[in-house]
Amino acid sequence: MITLKPSVAHPLTDSYGRYIEDLRISVTDRCNFRCQYCMPAEGLPWLASERVLSDDEIIRLATIFVRNGIKEIRVTGGEPTVRPSLPNIIRELSKLRDEGLESLSITTNGVLLDKLASKLSEAGLTRINVSLDTLVREKFHRITRRDCLDRVLKGLEILEQFPTIRPIKVNAVAMKNFTEEEILDFAQLARRKPYVVRFIEYMPLDADGNWRREQVLPGRYIYDVMNAWKPLVPVSTNPSSTSRVYRFADGIGEVGFINPVSEPFCSTCNRIRLTADGQIRTCLFSIEEYDLLGPLRAGATDAELSKIMHAAVARKELKHQINEGAAFQRASRSMSQIGG
Ligand code: SAM
Ligand code: SF4
Repeated sequence: MITLKPSVAHPLTDSYGRYIEDLRISVTDRCNFRCQYCMPAEGLPWLASERVLSDDEIIRLATIFVRNGIKEIRVTGGEPTVRPSLPNIIRELSKLRDEGLESLSITTNGVLLDKLASKLSEAGLTRINVSLDTLVREKFHRITRRDCLDRVLKGLEILEQFPTIRPIKVNAVAMKNFTEEEILDFAQLARRKPYVVRFIEYMPLDADGNWRREQVLPGRYIYDVMNAWKPLVPVSTNPSSTSRVYRFADGIGEVGFINPVSEPFCSTCNRIRLTADGQIRTCLFSIEEYDLLGPLRAGATDAELSKIMHAAVARKELKHQINEGAAFQRASRSMSQIGG
């Protein structure tokens, strides 16, 4: 359980005593990729543009969240870089550092970074997660349904020219019969490049509903392969971190494992999400959402919106139920609609 006392007077606290300090904001449900484990080939029914929070609405809600103790914001989607105003959103969010925001990052598929890296750096972005599941062109094409591996790798290289954006995290969804053969290639990438390479277990959040437990490649398996190749030593992290982080014993290269299926970390979860249409989700697997869009557009005051945020957080789920057989219910939206 997280024990550090937040600095604000009325921190967002759930009924299990967890302080909520990490907010993921989705700025669009749209995407230029169609990853097999996320979205169908034909896409999804997109939100009508008038239902999507405007830049000003995002900034207003984020400001209220930060005044309630949010310290970390990660901007995501869908694919956040397809929203033309992303640099503006980052610029405005970065001003919240004066209000107590400590970390501002984005999660992206990386395909537009060749054009956007400098604008994002200028706007004040300081951390980034780039999703990359394979280093093999044909596999990349198959999994994302786009032939864009070279462009993503180029985007990553361009990012290296902006030292204010660190760390650069490369996140791979780990799947059986897909990832195993590349474990050491990813280890080499982490050693050769200034990227922290992390593996995320495949979760039942795909829009097609095709997830099967047998497809999950446990983080422990990947760890064992890497550790047998070159010893890994643990790196201490914040207790609420989703990722177990290790460094190769010779000091070169850092890797991480996010194991929500095989080793759930719900007891230390300090995260909530704001969808592109202004709904609070208190767990990736939530079935219920809490509406901020309606009250916001109906003229609610900051205090009223703050009250909705506190009431939502108070009802945060104890844990997900992926491992509880028939008790598991799929989330009410899929990953790209939630904002992973
Ligand atoms: N489009 C951006 C991207 O891909 O980085 C941001 C949004 S995407 C939904 C956020 C993260 O969720 C990505 O790292 C993606 O790989 C991951 N993701 C999507 N579907 C997933 C699933 N079913 N299980 C585990 N991770 C998933
Ligand atoms: Fe798009 Fe990201 Fe989902 Fe892939 S994982 S389809 S890039 S939202």
